[in-house]
Amino acid sequence: AKQDGRNSFRFFAQEMQEHSLRSLQLSAALKDALSNDQFHLVYQPQLSLTDNAIVGAEALLRWEHPEWGAISPAEFIPLAEQNGLIVKIGEWVLQQVATQQKQWLSKGLPEIIVAINISALQFHQQNLVERISNIIQEAGVSPSNIEIELTEAVALKDPEVAGKTIDALSQQGFKVSIDDFGTGYSSMSYLKRFAVHKLKIDQSFIKDIVTDIDDQAIVTAIIQMAHSLHKTTIAEGVETQEQLEFLKEKGCEEIQGYWYSRPLVTEQFEVFLTTNKSN
Ligand code: C2E
Ligand code: CA
Ligand code: CA
Ligand code: CA
Repeated sequence: AKQDGRNSFRFFAQEMQEHSLRSLQLSAALKDALSNDQFHLVYQPQLSLTDNAIVGAEALLRWEHPEWGAISPAEFIPLAEQNGLIVKIGEWVLQQVATQQKQWLSKGLPEIIVAINISALQFHQQNLVERISNIIQEAGVSPSNIEIELTEAVALKDPEVAGKTIDALSQQGFKVSIDDFGTGYSSMSYLKRFAVHKLKIDQSFIKDIVTDIDDQAIVTAIIQMAHSLHKTTIAEGVETQEQLEFLKEKGCEEIQGYWYSRPLVTEQFEVFLTTNKSN
């Protein structure tokens, strides 16, 4: 047993080393990813359960490295957050989305809201609202077509400042939603103070919702609470008809997940938009 323990420790240490080596390599490679055009966005459609039509999409970042292939945002976003590149990357995402939306409008495609993810470092930038507004304005897109997704952790890093920033974003006409809702340390008083429009119920609660009575209770409570606070709800990670039916019965307004569509590259998304117009 002792021998085993030592072996598994050695194995663990080796894994750690490989892990941090990869992190270092990825972190360094990120520095050139923007200028070398290695990023692109995919768009995941969001379905309104009340209109039975597409209402929006979430823009999700993809990194295609010439040698290493596709690298998951779950892996590289934290690294970009650590080395500070996330601020530049985040602005690129916004610029890309705004330009894309302008193009879709001029092509006569239906107008939809595109949600983008904002990381902690970007959100707590000095003049965030001004910077975002400028990018949107330059592209000729209305703020009401942009939704800012924040996690609870991001908002609660400095609740005082976050509350003001969210208010300012709302005032400019942006939509604001709380991502991964239920997984953080949300306190009811913050929810009251943050002028967010939407709660995005985390996919971990949706996964087993058809069979797990605890998940059912939590999701039902989140939807009811959101409605009492005059906020809407979207459930993410919806993969089956049964999950959809449960959410619809509880009054959840929107869903996002593989059941409706996987994240799509621009060309695919345009086809989706054309074939899934209202009703
Ligand atoms: P997130 O914001 O919670 O995004 C939802 C994730 O769930 C996405 O993973 C999406 O592809 C995946 N997903 C969607 N529908 C389903 C489903 O039905 N089943 C399952 N199992 N998964 C589903 P993705 O694209 O790998 O992104 C991972 C995370 O990386 C995101 O989580 C977000 O936190 C971060 N991220 C992605 N793009 C950006 C970005 O542009 N900026 C920032 N700051 N973060 C980003
Ligand atoms: Ca998100
Ligand atoms: Ca999420
Ligand atoms: Ca997440």
